[in-house]
Amino acid sequence: MDKHAERLYLAENSVFSFRDPRNYLGTLAAVERFLGHVVNSAWFLERWPVMEDVEVKLHDGRGSQTAWASPNVISLPRWARRKLVVLHELAHVVTWQCYGKDRPAHGRTFARVYLRLVRHVLGQEAARELRWAFRRHRIRFQRRK
Ligand SMILES: [Zn+2]
Repeated sequence: MDKHAERLYLAENSVFSFRDPRNYLGTLAAVERFLGHVVNSAWFLERWPVMEDVEVKLHDGRGSQTAWASPNVISLPRWARRKLVVLHELAHVVTWQCYGKDRPAHGRTFARVYLRLVRHVLGQEAARELRWAFRRHRIRFQRRK
């Protein structure tokens, strides 16, 4: 794993919304419902209209160590079936679909999309904490000047 991704995982594992038991979904069915609410919401589709034509598929990642995303698939082992991780993987899908497949996996665009999703779905407090964690772990999310 590269150093940058490692720092990002450290940052997100340090925030309360990661381990908040209320954010643990557990089953794929629960993830599906949560994800459905987000990707079908007016807020989401207004912000990223390209996503109207993208069907995000869930993959049962049981038995694998890591969660991952492709431009239209999200794979989640059991531990990863929590809201913050689902939003992380969804941020990959949105970044690749809406800003180009050449974007670095955990670059600025990804981090910005991720923060935006967290702010809207989990709230101001969760977003503030994640932003602080990004700063502490030197994860860039500001648009390049
Ligand atoms: Zn990632």
